[in-house]
Amino acid sequence: MAERRKFKKRYCKYCESKVDFIDYKDLNLLKISLSERFKIMPRRLTGNCKRHQELVTVAIKRARQTALIPYIVDRKRVIENPFELIK
Ligand SMILES: [Zn+2]
Repeated sequence: MAERRKFKKRYCKYCESKVDFIDYKDLNLLKISLSERFKIMPRRLTGNCKRHQELVTVAIKRARQTALIPYIVDRKRVIENPFELIK
């Protein structure tokens, strides 16, 4: 396989921690499915199940609207850990 393996195991982290509802204010939950540039990670990389991926997509979009998460990150201002800026 030429595809670079970013994640070793494919399992849904939300199922594992038994999350029923993903709140858009809970950034720790959203963080799992966000890349360092605040993009939503595809399911094939995170290994989320379909149900939780849909939940987290809605939550992330809601969080963007409420300005908890930026829509775009400037290419020149990529920070090591952007989550330390929020809070
Ligand atoms: Zn799941």
